[in-house]
Amino acid sequence: MSKLVMALDQGTTSSRTILFDETGALLCSENELFPSTYPKSGWVEQDPEVIWSSQLNTMKKVLEKSGHSLKDIAGLGITNQRETVIAWNKDTGEALGNAIVWQCRRTADYCEILKKEGFDQVIKEHTGLVTDAYFSGTKMRWILNEVPGAHQLAAQGKLAFGTVDSWLIWKLTGGKVHIMDITNASRTLVYNVFKREWDEEILKHFDIPIQTLPEVKPSSGIVGHTDPSIFGASIPIAGIAGDQHASLFGQACFETGMAKNTYGTGCFMLMNTGDTPILSQHNLLTTVAWQIGDQVTYAIEGSIFIAGALIQWLRDELELFQDASETEAMATSVDHSNGAYVVPAFVGLGAPHWDPYARGTIMGLTRNTNKRHIVRAALEAIAFQAYDIAHVMELDTKIALNSLRMDGGASNNNFLCQFQSDILGMPASRPKVVETTAMGAAFLAGLATGVWSGTDEIQKMWQEDRRFTPQISKGQADDLLKGWHRAVERSKGWES
Ligand code: ADP
Repeated sequence: MSKLVMALDQGTTSSRTILFDETGALLCSENELFPSTYPKSGWVEQDPEVIWSSQLNTMKKVLEKSGHSLKDIAGLGITNQRETVIAWNKDTGEALGNAIVWQCRRTADYCEILKKEGFDQVIKEHTGLVTDAYFSGTKMRWILNEVPGAHQLAAQGKLAFGTVDSWLIWKLTGGKVHIMDITNASRTLVYNVFKREWDEEILKHFDIPIQTLPEVKPSSGIVGHTDPSIFGASIPIAGIAGDQHASLFGQACFETGMAKNTYGTGCFMLMNTGDTPILSQHNLLTTVAWQIGDQVTYAIEGSIFIAGALIQWLRDELELFQDASETEAMATSVDHSNGAYVVPAFVGLGAPHWDPYARGTIMGLTRNTNKRHIVRAALEAIAFQAYDIAHVMELDTKIALNSLRMDGGASNNNFLCQFQSDILGMPASRPKVVETTAMGAAFLAGLATGVWSGTDEIQKMWQEDRRFTPQISKGQADDLLKGWHRAVERSKGWES
């Protein structure tokens, strides 16, 4: 029986394909970078054909390099950059212009109008999201209003909208299947996560015809087969989830109250809230974690804009070191940050502070502060920000977090991981396989194709690389947090 699973990890800067075996071991991986374009200030686009061709190239290379044949592969799993929108003509398969990438701010003004109208309240109550240009819905509306011919195509029933998963599946199936998985749908701003259907009231408000939208599918289950013209034979497409949802799954956070934090450029923390969608009082997001069969699991999500990017800034702008990996030794070469705090509010502050006018600051400097103190304070700032999110998650969910699973590039830093555990006052674990996003997509596909029997089996495959436990007292952690919150207050309202 076929026992391998191929995971497609379509990210913002690169497309990757990874082949996993039934023990969860990574057999082979290929990566291809591709560009974004910035046609106007704040606009971010990508060529849909390049998204597809880069993904296809890596799939072909993995097959070639691994020496495995198609019949060894039980199924394909897909995980993708979320919220990015692609529109295409269902008849010709041709994309209508570029993909509008999640980072694109072109609909920010419209989001302001929605807020002034008070429609943000409807959006929040139906979708669990805050009204922001980041999400897909206002981007779809922009395409309908601004791209020549889009409205006409929609009227003829020929216009298809999709997120990146939809686009890849359309391409992989030779134009036979137009779907979106529920986790991606839950980031569109037009999907009702409580009723689990496209939201007619919001679609009407945005003037988006429902026929343009794909059918929403569970995250695990066969949704179609690859067209034989692509690989010479068909492979079932069996698992799909947006990147952060896939990583929650790949971290085996299957029980209510389990949470993961990904330390990349920014941070994304998600907590499994079981079968209950919880509306946040602190501007965290309500989202579908995944759906397996009829069973829907929800999550609450908080993001931090600047995390690893602060380390990049210290490296590239302040030139305090040459490589991010040096920061661990620098931070541990001093016993404390000597009272220094770095608040990386370069683009304002997100949850739970929500101040777009905050700006970055370094507080508490004295004559004997040195660069090692600053580096340490910067790593500490990443952990403090994650603490602030975890804290409001606990308030919103009334669930006491009892451990955290960590991944992402900056989770390689042992000092950061230790300090995170210290400040949270709970264990924090890093897994052996840090490719949690691809792993999650593979798990979802493998569950649907019989490679794995259920989440119990997957739970056993999740292996800890290192577990960090608190090494400081609650009193010490509280003192450090007090200083952090004083520094945060001083960073607020700077830009007028
Ligand atoms: P993304 O997926 O957002 O591009 P990655 O998960 O690849 O991010 O992580 C890269 C980020 O992690 C960079 O911002 C980098 O500064 C930071 N980083 C990588 N290694 C370390 C380290 N050892 N210590 C601290 N930060 C690190």
